[in-house]
Amino acid sequence: MGNSQPEPIEGKLGGTILGPTNPSREAENPTIMKPPSTDHGTLPNLKWSFADSHMRLNEGGWSRQTTVRELPISKDFAGVNMRLKAGGVREMHWHKEAEWSYMLKGRARITAVDENGCAFQDDVEEGDLWFFPAGIPHSIQGLEDDGCEFLLVFDQGDFSEDSTFLVSDWLAHTPKEVLAKNFGVHESAFAHIPKKELYIFQTQVPPPLSQDRVTGNGKMPLSLSHRMLKQKPIVTKGGKVWITDTSNFPASKTIAAALVEIEPGAMRELHWHPNGDEWQFYISGQARMTVFAAEGNARTFDFQAGDVGFVPFPMPHYVENTGNTTLRFLEIFRSDHFADVSLAKWLAFTPHELVRAHLRIDESLLAKIPKYRTPVVPA
Ligand code: MN
Ligand code: MN
Repeated sequence: MGNSQPEPIEGKLGGTILGPTNPSREAENPTIMKPPSTDHGTLPNLKWSFADSHMRLNEGGWSRQTTVRELPISKDFAGVNMRLKAGGVREMHWHKEAEWSYMLKGRARITAVDENGCAFQDDVEEGDLWFFPAGIPHSIQGLEDDGCEFLLVFDQGDFSEDSTFLVSDWLAHTPKEVLAKNFGVHESAFAHIPKKELYIFQTQVPPPLSQDRVTGNGKMPLSLSHRMLKQKPIVTKGGKVWITDTSNFPASKTIAAALVEIEPGAMRELHWHPNGDEWQFYISGQARMTVFAAEGNARTFDFQAGDVGFVPFPMPHYVENTGNTTLRFLEIFRSDHFADVSLAKWLAFTPHELVRAHLRIDESLLAKIPKYRTPVVPA
């Protein structure tokens, strides 16, 4: 699956392409080229690849974003993929959206200060999360050996990395005599502040956190970081699921997430979410998802590492591993809790005679549905 060049031919239907082709793109999207016969009707686009997002290059790293401008249906979420080299800093800043993050590779030092002057600093690594509430100032810096790369998710689709409140940008646009008065020093103290924003810049790798720590007015009441991959996952025959929401990461009040691992051939079961849209980020492997939109409409999409997928509230779907390697992806919700409804459970826990009258399936099938949670089913 996915290795041969797809053609828009199904028996007597369709025909060869005579005009321009884009073989690598078509090979990545076999079910767009030749949709399953169960697909029908028109759905909005539910896929965007970060490979198509504009790269912003800076000394110290890069960033690219997938917002409502790239994926118009994503009104509640924007994503940013960022790389910081060792010592590279995402400048001290804040914004009107909350920021949730998953560390993809490497290590970073994160800092924040809240409205009570409580200070937060932590070093995070692969599989760790952070959550910066809206309006709370923060920073991110890459550590040894090779800095880091991470995914940021914001709880508003129209967020832009290019319009955050940066300390350098603010001070460059404040009269120097006002800065002097504010700090009770001479204007000359601000002779060397940057004339424009830094955004991402290169500086020295910081010393160990024990030597770098500032306590401010004390510890924040809620930790802004969380070790997601250190949680005990739900393990099934087809894969694993790590769920993080306010039940185990209380600071993350507006974002709930599941990290899903699916073995080759296995799939995330047929389900839907009763509490909002789903924003997905594919970390590794390849996948296929069909979204059912009611009124007989359904559309299938293929995904690779670095792709973003989207499922509008409360449309049902599955995610199948169509590759030869472990599929890993994130399900993100704008909610304080993770929730899903399983088709299998719904059928098994409804009087069986009623279910059989609808679907004409055997009692043996209903009896087979396990009572324990199986978010990922084996091949
Ligand atoms: Mn930020
Ligand atoms: Mn889902």
